[in-house]
Amino acid sequence: MKKCIECKCLENLVPIFKRGSNNGTAEDYSRKMICEDCLENYEEYGRCPLCQDEAAYHERDLIDGYCREHYDEVTPYDEEEAEDKRSYAEYLMDPSH
Ligand SMILES: [Zn+2]
Ligand SMILES: [Zn+2]
Repeated sequence: MKKCIECKCLENLVPIFKRGSNNGTAEDYSRKMICEDCLENYEEYGRCPLCQDEAAYHERDLIDGYCREHYDEVTPYDEEEAEDKRSYAEYLMDPSH
């Protein structure tokens, strides 16, 4: 029977992703569940606000409350750095040097 890992209740359970999950899907669910109430109060687990999946990540898999993939999306884009990367990629692909 599935129950909350904290309070052992059986209702409003949220699946917890396996450690190391990034932008997880149902395939990344661990067997653990946590209830909505504990999830709110428990610092060790959290939910990425951008993930469609209603599952919880381990706190260590979140950066500022986002999963790693979404964190990259929400971080302000650095034009200069992106330009550097682009020209470096072009340099690598250019066979004439
Ligand atoms: Zn609970
Ligand atoms: Zn996410």
